[in-house]
Amino acid sequence: MGTTAPAPCRAFVTGHDGAAPMRTQVGIVGAGPAGLMLSHLLHLRGIESVVLEVRSRAAIEATIRAGVLEQGTVDLLTATGVGERLGREGAIHHGIKLRFGGRTRRIDLHALTGGKAITLYAQHEVIKDLVEARLAAGGQIRFDAKDVSVHDLDTDAPSIRFRQNGRAQELRCDVIAGCDGFHGVCRPSVPESVRTEYQRVYPFGWFSILAEAPPASDELIYTCHERGFVLISTRSPTLQRFYFQCDPHDQIANWPDDRIWQEFHARLENQEGWRLIEGPIIHKIIIAMRSFVCEPMRHGRLFLAGDAAHIVPPTGAKGLNLAVADVVVLARALAGFYGSGRTDLLDDYSQTALRRVWKAQHFSWWMTSMLHRSAEASAFDLRRQLAELDYVTSSPAASTALAENYVGLPMEL
Ligand SMILES: Cc1cc2nc3c(=O)[nH]c(=O)nc-3n(C[C@H](O)[C@H](O)[C@H](O)COP(=O)(O)OP(=O)(O)OC[C@H]3O[C@@H](n4cnc5c(N)ncnc54)[C@H](O)[C@@H]3O)c2cc1C
Repeated sequence: MGTTAPAPCRAFVTGHDGAAPMRTQVGIVGAGPAGLMLSHLLHLRGIESVVLEVRSRAAIEATIRAGVLEQGTVDLLTATGVGERLGREGAIHHGIKLRFGGRTRRIDLHALTGGKAITLYAQHEVIKDLVEARLAAGGQIRFDAKDVSVHDLDTDAPSIRFRQNGRAQELRCDVIAGCDGFHGVCRPSVPESVRTEYQRVYPFGWFSILAEAPPASDELIYTCHERGFVLISTRSPTLQRFYFQCDPHDQIANWPDDRIWQEFHARLENQEGWRLIEGPIIHKIIIAMRSFVCEPMRHGRLFLAGDAAHIVPPTGAKGLNLAVADVVVLARALAGFYGSGRTDLLDDYSQTALRRVWKAQHFSWWMTSMLHRSAEASAFDLRRQLAELDYVTSSPAASTALAENYVGLPMEL
């Protein structure tokens, strides 16, 4: 970016029918973890932003998605003043279990990473905490912003147009952060000629349920079974999250509760005597699995972050954490831009973020391939998978590689 930083300004948005200027420093599209965390980090550095979100506050605070927070994500939320409820209600896990070949082995995350852990705290709780913090600090989040579009990305004065309450509005800014997830409008606004997309679509999905039951295990159980993968996770002392590998084109209607429990029992129980505790199923969803990266993560004054730029299969629990890691890099680069006019950190943003993104891509692909059964897999493939799991859970070097990726690689700065 060959320009100097504009002077700070107060953020405000009004209808342009009244000819009042609408301006902020950083216009953020999307109030997911990436957009809200970026707005929060910028606020702490004295940089104004406005977040435009297509859905209502109630909708974003009720969308059930991720739940595993890396150590670095927890540390960041805590250090920036939004970790109070997380510290009280989040469940710290010091290990995970891998079940295969009729036995279960533990990866001691804590011991293998010098004291790090993961924390189970649902994504929508993180969203609630961030929304509350932004609003309490006078931050602007425009919910129900419809028909959002981004313009003049190649100039020093990009803008975002949207409709709210039936009125067309325009927000002018210095920089736009595209934090609008995989199906958002920002990435497609980058001309195809200047972006490259890398993708792998997996031939299986996850059937996910939320069940009202006590925890089935004190730690997550990743299971590789000849009928397919299962993940036993948890949400709270009374609510559990379980997943089993399914055909991504399957229909929820094909899976009455009884059939779901039968499938879990068949894949999970072994001679170790462990038993799954059933309960009323209150939510069912089928999740498709893909790996995706868009390069570069920047075009002119538009910077992509989180799922807008990349998707990982959920096996490694990296999506939310990657979104947070991206905006840490972006917030720091913007602080340099506004603080001293330096543009090198913004110029390096894409390259810096992508270094971590590709490592997380590799880890997520590796966990997925090691634990799932593909329809084309032969008896040889199953034996090979079991040997890999045996190695990963018995070699200190291999266990450490899994553990340090699972608790999260250091954030790039
Ligand atoms: C079932 C499931 C389980 C998962 N488990 C984990 C896990 O354990 N750990 C983990 O780290 N990750 C996990 N993930 C991934 C994680 O949820 C995502 O990676 C994360 O939500 C990405 O955050 P984001 O802010 O980039 O995008 P999003 O959360 O998708 O947020 C984007 C926001 O932009 C808004 N938006 C979209 N289009 C527009 C528009 N045109 N205008 C304005 N606003 C718009 C959306 O409404 C949304 O609020 C899981 C995902 C799923 C589906």
